[in-house]
Amino acid sequence: MAAGHKIRHNAVDFTGCLAHAEITYLQSTQKILRIRGHFHHNEGCKKALIMRFPAVPLHPAVYEVALQQLKEGCTLTDVQERNHTMVQPWHIATSLLICRDLHTVGIYDLRDKDTRSLYRQFNHLQGIKSQSKAHLNIDEWLDPDSAQFNQTLHDVVFHYSPRATWGEQVEICIATPEMREAAWKYAHQSQIILDGTFGSVTKNSFIQSLWA
Ligand SMILES: [Zn+2]
Repeated sequence: MAAGHKIRHNAVDFTGCLAHAEITYLQSTQKILRIRGHFHHNEGCKKALIMRFPAVPLHPAVYEVALQQLKEGCTLTDVQERNHTMVQPWHIATSLLICRDLHTVGIYDLRDKDTRSLYRQFNHLQGIKSQSKAHLNIDEWLDPDSAQFNQTLHDVVFHYSPRATWGEQVEICIATPEMREAAWKYAHQSQIILDGTFGSVTKNSFIQSLWA
């Protein structure tokens, strides 16, 4: 059982079995100096049945396909749909498909709980530090004195108000040359009407402050 956790992760229930081995060896030469312990399992342990199967990770090939899709600009729904169609032909009674080759054990079904890891990997590939807060990452990219300074992003930002105090909203507005061109092409005089297709921020105060 992992320290500090109430949930038991071991495959079998605890039977009071004391079996264990302690091996002392020299790290440099791997030479074993001593083996000691209790080498016998109790009866309960010998008869114990597996109560919990260890968590099976997502197959690396699934991440590979999903990451490629995200790179091409696909949404999570696209990723899930593609995964579904790829898994479907092999679907057996359960959704578990475990390759028995030791190097590639994994599940092929992209589960909701895998998306966190998927995005973490994707962010890492883009050089985004997931462990840092978004507003800190942004500030680093826009700060010419920072090692993380990003000229491309810097060039397309036309409004930036960093979060200087607690509770303050970060404001960042981006317009690529293509977006500027499209604005001139499609705007009716000074008006562009958008719907929520592109997932605009729903915080009214933010939108209002931009249009004020
Ligand atoms: Zn035992």
